[in-house]
Amino acid sequence: MTGTREAVAAVVDPEIRVITIDELGILRAVDEDPATGRVVVTITPTYTGCPAMDVIRADIRQALAAAGRPDAEIRTVFSPAWSTDWISDSGRAKLAAAGIAPPAPVRAGNVVPLTLAVRCPRCGSPETEQLSRFGSTACKALWRCRSCSEPFDHLKAL
Ligand SMILES: [Zn+2]
Repeated sequence: MTGTREAVAAVVDPEIRVITIDELGILRAVDEDPATGRVVVTITPTYTGCPAMDVIRADIRQALAAAGRPDAEIRTVFSPAWSTDWISDSGRAKLAAAGIAPPAPVRAGNVVPLTLAVRCPRCGSPETEQLSRFGSTACKALWRCRSCSEPFDHLKAL
């Protein structure tokens, strides 16, 4: 198993290529089935409409084959559902560095404010507006900063 989890964890998200599936929280587990000896990779899609999951599965297979485990099994689990809380701190930092506004953590029990300020990833200004519900991909919305007038992608909080 040495190196197998690392190989899978290094697979990048096909839509947001700066972040790995591990940092995004898609990768739930890499185990070995004691009965068969096969590697079992468990993933949870960011959201059901995301067409990137097929690409992610193919990329995981490729990474496993390169790590010498081509007979792995990839399981997709939908419960518990993925949420943006699963994005790691290093993942959030990478999103911000790439000009993608990281979603605000949505924790259970928190009251969601009516006006949720989305800060500009370039200048940090909260003076932003949503241009389109769909940005460069279905998982992102297109926003524009009113301070520096730069458009940016905002990963939808789920
Ligand atoms: Zn700005």
